[in-house]
Amino acid sequence: MVIVRLNREKCLRCGFCTSICVRVFELDNEEESAQITSPFRTEEKFIGEIPENINCVKVAERKCPVNAIKTVDEKESNSGKLT
Ligand code: SF4
Repeated sequence: MVIVRLNREKCLRCGFCTSICVRVFELDNEEESAQITSPFRTEEKFIGEIPENINCVKVAERKCPVNAIKTVDEKESNSGKLT
């Protein structure tokens, strides 16, 4: 499992992550930012738990123009590296 965190303060709402990884990211009309889609979000809509075989999340992390997406393998997050 991969933990993904989306920083809505940084997000430009450009829609790039939603176009390359539509299963995981969608635009939030109320928050003016992207958010995690409901199947994968936690109780927080900007934090998701993603199966490792959904590789587009890592692509979105690399391609986001403002580095608003951060992913961490669940093992690392358990050791406190997700900030
Ligand atoms: S690619 Fe980055 S800036 Fe663009 S909508 Fe997604 S999170 Fe926001």
